[in-house]
Amino acid sequence: MDFIPSTDDEQFRQEVRSFLREHLPSDLAWRGQQGYLPGKEDSLRWTRILHEKRGWSAPAWPREDGGTGWAASQRYIFEEECYLAGAPIPNQAGIDLVGPVICHFGNTEQKKRFLPPILRGEVFWIQGFSEPGAGSDLANLRTTAVRDGDSYVVNGQKIWTSFGTQGDWNFLLVRTDPTAKPQKGISFLLLDTHTPGVTIRPIVSLDGCGHLAEVFYDNVRVPVENLIGEENKGWGYTKFLLFNERALLGAESPALKRYLAKIRRYASCQRAGDRPLIEDPAFAGRLAQYELEVLAIDMMVQKILHQGVNELNGGAAIGSMLKVRGSEMHQKLTEMLVEIIGDYGPVFYPSPAEEQTEHEQSFVGPDFAPGLAAELFYRRACTIYGGTAEIQRNIIAKALFGL
Ligand SMILES: Cc1cc2nc3c(=O)[nH]c(=O)nc-3n(C[C@H](O)[C@H](O)[C@H](O)COP(=O)(O)OP(=O)(O)OC[C@H]3O[C@@H](n4cnc5c(N)ncnc54)[C@H](O)[C@@H]3O)c2cc1C
Repeated sequence: MDFIPSTDDEQFRQEVRSFLREHLPSDLAWRGQQGYLPGKEDSLRWTRILHEKRGWSAPAWPREDGGTGWAASQRYIFEEECYLAGAPIPNQAGIDLVGPVICHFGNTEQKKRFLPPILRGEVFWIQGFSEPGAGSDLANLRTTAVRDGDSYVVNGQKIWTSFGTQGDWNFLLVRTDPTAKPQKGISFLLLDTHTPGVTIRPIVSLDGCGHLAEVFYDNVRVPVENLIGEENKGWGYTKFLLFNERALLGAESPALKRYLAKIRRYASCQRAGDRPLIEDPAFAGRLAQYELEVLAIDMMVQKILHQGVNELNGGAAIGSMLKVRGSEMHQKLTEMLVEIIGDYGPVFYPSPAEEQTEHEQSFVGPDFAPGLAAELFYRRACTIYGGTAEIQRNIIAKALFGL
């Protein structure tokens, strides 16, 4: 394949850039550039802007469901430019995870009811898969749903739910047939988090963002019409979603490029002895190595986008390969960013959200320091979320080497 962008792609890139210059609010861009994780308010605000101005809020969805109909290269360019400009990541659980599941497996009523509010940035979704005792071994999940008239009655617990306390809607896996083999008795439900019996408790994490939560279900009634597809067939929809999730998380190569750009910029301002840090041979050598590694990941992502995953050698393992390599790079690059600010590196800036706090404004140190430590801490988890690195290696070993 040819990696040289076509004239059309270049024109599209300019169109996206001028859109971002005109419509990305400066406070959102500041928080994105600093590395703070966007919460519900920022994510939905940006989704609303994308939808209202251009209908660009869910580029990868089928066109008939509200997607853009863009070619793979255009989707990639759009994502890259958004990252580089500091635009917040939209609500991934809604747009990238449950949205495509509803598009592919939802019925007409479900599509009409659930897709437009996601496109318009009106609801914030959270993902309820993991449980205590069912993370890597997801099929071991124990949350139950028992049919009672036109409802399911749900009991159990989810854990590590990202942005759990902010969720309006929750998609979750439940066991509907306890007698079947683990994967065969699972169903996929959509639940309004305001339903009586739902309790959401925050979990404090290392990055200080407090965006994780536990979700408890105590005799929660979920209408049968909120079942996706068929009862006990949820594992199939889950595999579809997990593959998308891994490819998505692994394919955050535009985020890696943003780190590299920041490293170059910041290391030009900081000094190592009598020269800028960027000219220090050891630092420059390490950066060059990382740049090559990111380039390799990026080429793999572009190949997938152009050829489709099934055409490539490795098929099922590709998402896992990207997840492993991508998450390792996230960790190396966020470490390097914090190293650049030297003595200020370990200083923790606890405010991920709304405005720069007085603490940040008064802090002596480079103005790019806030946010770096928070991002480093958050990225420690990227070899865990979306499936741990060990599990991805198991998948690769099985798919590629038959082990
Ligand atoms: C920041 C963050 C956000 C998350 N967000 C969500 C979310 O929104 N929704 C959601 O449902 N979940 C979420 N998760 C949960 C995540 O998917 C799980 O943490 C992950 O799947 C691992 O499961 P576990 O924590 O139960 O660890 P375990 O499965 O108990 O694993 C513990 C350790 O044992 C290793 N291990 C387990 N089995 C094997 C094996 N067969 N071979 C080799 N090693 C093995 C693992 O690699 C790991 O190192 C999130 C997690 C984090 C950290």
